[in-house]
Amino acid sequence: MKKEYKLPLAVFIFTATLLTFMQIKMPHPILLAERFVKGLGWLEIAIIATYGAYVAYKMQDPKEVPKWRKKIWTIFSVAFFSQLIIGLLGADKFLMNGKLHLPIPMMILAGPIYRGQLSIMPILLISTIILTGPAWCSQLCYFGAFDGLSSSGKTQKGKLKYKAQIKASILVFVIIMTIALRLFEVSLLISTLAAISFGLVGISVMLWFSRKNGKMVHCILYCPVGTIVNITRFISPFRMYIDNSCDLCMRCTSHCKYDALRPEHIKNKKPGFSCTLCGDCLASCKGNSIKYRFLNLKPETARNLYLFLTISLHACFLAVARI
Ligand code: SF4
Ligand code: SF4
Ligand code: SF4
Repeated sequence: MKKEYKLPLAVFIFTATLLTFMQIKMPHPILLAERFVKGLGWLEIAIIATYGAYVAYKMQDPKEVPKWRKKIWTIFSVAFFSQLIIGLLGADKFLMNGKLHLPIPMMILAGPIYRGQLSIMPILLISTIILTGPAWCSQLCYFGAFDGLSSSGKTQKGKLKYKAQIKASILVFVIIMTIALRLFEVSLLISTLAAISFGLVGISVMLWFSRKNGKMVHCILYCPVGTIVNITRFISPFRMYIDNSCDLCMRCTSHCKYDALRPEHIKNKKPGFSCTLCGDCLASCKGNSIKYRFLNLKPETARNLYLFLTISLHACFLAVARI
């Protein structure tokens, strides 16, 4: 595939603009380099914007997407958790504001219910869903990359059974439990231990079920925020569809880690509801039958718009996301 420079340039300009706005407008230095040496934040902006442009250059080619998506998602998660660990060890410049919370996606849902007030994370999540649909769960969440790594092996053909029922039950369970903890004024210590236990079970699901199935079972079935993303992603006009050139060869089935390309989805000409628009499946289809849609844009333009938004957001998150 012939690579062009328009997309990388657009990512560079947009990322640099967003980070410049944050550098100028935020009352406290939000960029890490600026925290150590005044003015160095500008160099960080240039480096991060160049990084975003390079990733966009690579990911233009659908064949490069599975490798690069995994790479950049892992880089983001490692950067996020490294800063948290270094911050907890005493270098508090690596922390956002010193107000710690558990780095488990479930807390994006449970935290505001428990405290009775909205925080920055749900607002950030909703904003990214409006802009990019389910891309939060394909490369923007700080936790899901580990499920991606766990599921790296061969994708098993078997169907994940009772998917909708399990997802709905866990979502309802988390909401009810959080309301109960609040209503009964259960101590912060017990509530925190309950949240940690939920996180540990999640890690076990990754290590056992995701690894065994070669699918992201934690993200597909267990994580309640993933379920919310699956439900609300339709507020964004981005879609993935299969056109009439599909000959039902089923080759793409084994390229989806989100269990969204099962034979019934392919016959129905659209991926299942757990599709995150990750784009890993595109290159597996020799006839280019799997396509992005955004309103009435051409599929290639819709894909470029999707890459532009998700890669720019990824680069900005890499620069500023920390606890
Ligand atoms: S399903 Fe949960 S852990 Fe997985 S990427 Fe989405 S929010 Fe993150
Ligand atoms: S690989 Fe392409 S042609 Fe084959 S089933 Fe998937 S979408 Fe259809
Ligand atoms: S169907 Fe394709 S785009 Fe959707 S999650 Fe699966 S691999 Fe990603």
